[in-house]
Amino acid sequence: MFDSVFLDLPPLQSATGVVQLPGSKSISNRVLLLSALCQGTTVVHDLLDSDDTRVMLTALRQLGCGVDVQGTTVTMVGLGGQLKQHDALEFFMGNAGTAMRPLTAALAVLGGDFTLKGVPRMHERPIGDLVQALRSLGCSVDYLANEGFPPLKIGKPNLKMDAPIQVRGDVSSQFLTALLLALPLVATKDIHVDVVGELISKPYIDITLKLLSRFGVQVQQQGWSRFTIPAGSKYLSPKDIYVEADASSASYFVALGGLAATVDKPLRILGVGAASIQGDIKFIDAAAQMGVQIRAEPNALTVWRGNWEVQTAFLKAIDLDCNHIPDAAMTLAVMALYAHGTTRLRNIASWRVKETDRIAAMATELRKLGAKVQEGVDFIRITPPTHNSPSHTGWRFASIHTYDDHRMAMCASLAAFNPAGLPVRIEDPQCVAKTFPDYFEALFSVAKADTVNIPVICIDGPTASGKGTLASMIAKQLGYHYLDSGALYRLVGFAASQVGVDLDDEAAVATIALQMKIGFDRDRVSLNGIDVADNIRSEASGMLASKVSSYPAVRQALFDLQLGFRKLPGLVADGRDMGTVIFPDAPLKVFLTASAATRAERRYKQLISKGISAKIDSLRADLEARDARDQSRSAAPLVAAKDALMLDNSNLTIEASVTQVLEWWDKKFSRFAPSQL
Ligand code: C5P
Repeated sequence: MFDSVFLDLPPLQSATGVVQLPGSKSISNRVLLLSALCQGTTVVHDLLDSDDTRVMLTALRQLGCGVDVQGTTVTMVGLGGQLKQHDALEFFMGNAGTAMRPLTAALAVLGGDFTLKGVPRMHERPIGDLVQALRSLGCSVDYLANEGFPPLKIGKPNLKMDAPIQVRGDVSSQFLTALLLALPLVATKDIHVDVVGELISKPYIDITLKLLSRFGVQVQQQGWSRFTIPAGSKYLSPKDIYVEADASSASYFVALGGLAATVDKPLRILGVGAASIQGDIKFIDAAAQMGVQIRAEPNALTVWRGNWEVQTAFLKAIDLDCNHIPDAAMTLAVMALYAHGTTRLRNIASWRVKETDRIAAMATELRKLGAKVQEGVDFIRITPPTHNSPSHTGWRFASIHTYDDHRMAMCASLAAFNPAGLPVRIEDPQCVAKTFPDYFEALFSVAKADTVNIPVICIDGPTASGKGTLASMIAKQLGYHYLDSGALYRLVGFAASQVGVDLDDEAAVATIALQMKIGFDRDRVSLNGIDVADNIRSEASGMLASKVSSYPAVRQALFDLQLGFRKLPGLVADGRDMGTVIFPDAPLKVFLTASAATRAERRYKQLISKGISAKIDSLRADLEARDARDQSRSAAPLVAAKDALMLDNSNLTIEASVTQVLEWWDKKFSRFAPSQL
């Protein structure tokens, strides 16, 4: 997951390959609640692991439900409609509407002493219509702050089920879903629920009804206006249940394929298809109207783009009522940036009460990218940036604000295919964790950029100058990959000495370098499957590395391996020749130095802290010997690249060095948007 403050997406070119999507949020949270309320044990397969499902699982555990999580398989021991805990419980619902609404209803009908709260945005999301319906049924629900909004206090009910329960259907369909999930717990008589106003997002109600039926409750339906829960309804475990992949999450990849995949190299999306019970699967019809080519199988989609003129790439603009696909319709708004003409998305008032006011957010951010956008109470109209001029001047670099809304972040990533070849900055990228924690990893597994457009920051310098610490901190801050090239030479020296190769035999050592199977994972470095991180960090390994790295054949053997680290979204590489030999086109090169005395002292402290005894004088002598060898060797000697920026960090804290390099990086970046960073 990307937990950097922002993520810079380089301009993307194409997309192809296969993506497996995570489970649907809507289905996951409904299934969890039903498994908790029913009689019996349920094994839930392919559950989504995200912020919103964790919120639900925590609440269900608090209620005394047995929960065993093994990856994406979760075994739930149902409560059989009886709460084990009902006293003074406080539930934190984050910003998960799919947890807040149904839990409120279920807890209100079962009764207890409960408080439900969430993040500040949750306290701005309306719940009054649900509370009113619950009160009419005799439930005790009070507002702890503002009338109509969480946080809520729930007490013991005095249920009366004589009259039909009325609930508004035109603000959020989650109110009706919440009632439908809760009422079977207390259906001693037939219970009628009447929907007041036009019901929005009907497909979500369909999901609810289908899942209720899987758990043994058959709701009778009179159109979309009356739902009856028959007397004696009882939840029974289906024993095993599979969560299908999230159709809304699929929308980003359908769009991706429609923008950037070709018929001979299409994009394949696994986990959701024509047989989906999710309403958002209808997004594929809208995408097809825009010109995306889609082949739908029951549980998979294959996608590519239609007629596409190089550089003047156009989808077709549409004018569409999006009430049936409220979440996925956001993706259409970004696709509209690539359409010929103006796209209008109508009947989307529910966008305003989601994770953020999505109409306002989308309008603001698309304007930053250069589009002309008009917003209304329940519509948005988007005219793309002009992209028929040779310089595509209508497109702008933008730092996209994401409003703690996962869909804003995922939508924004699609702007990286702009024909102007501009990068896109996405603020707070970890907000995708709400429904798709590995969204960017999935995107980068199928999206391709021209290698020259994948940024590399090189940090070269002498031994113990602090390159490694600086480079890995910069990589973390930017969400980039990290290459510790010194570790590669250390691995060669270590591997060669392990198998008893004569270290004076250049060809034999180079063969070892070509054959090594190495892996980097956080602090672990593996050689042929065995963790050797500690072995290669020793001073002796450093000396061996210094020796083998002077062989041109060894350097050649590691050349392609190092180039392979240049992957989306970018790379920070540290070593001796990153800026001079391996990545000479890197947009930022830093040459990091510190006095020999400072470096010896740092190395000394490092070793002592690890319990390794050392003498500062001999450390300094070793460092100077290695510097001399690195500088004087004929193959890739240690020198600063001509265009490197010099940074002497003898008197700087590591934080100050990081700040300096990030400032330089921002300056490089600001050529795209002098005024926006
Ligand atoms: O940076 P580190 O101390 O881990 O590097 C170990 C040795 O590997 C260095 O002393 C240097 O001789 C060699 N090296 C190199 N080129 C690089 C990185 C390290 O020659 N890019």
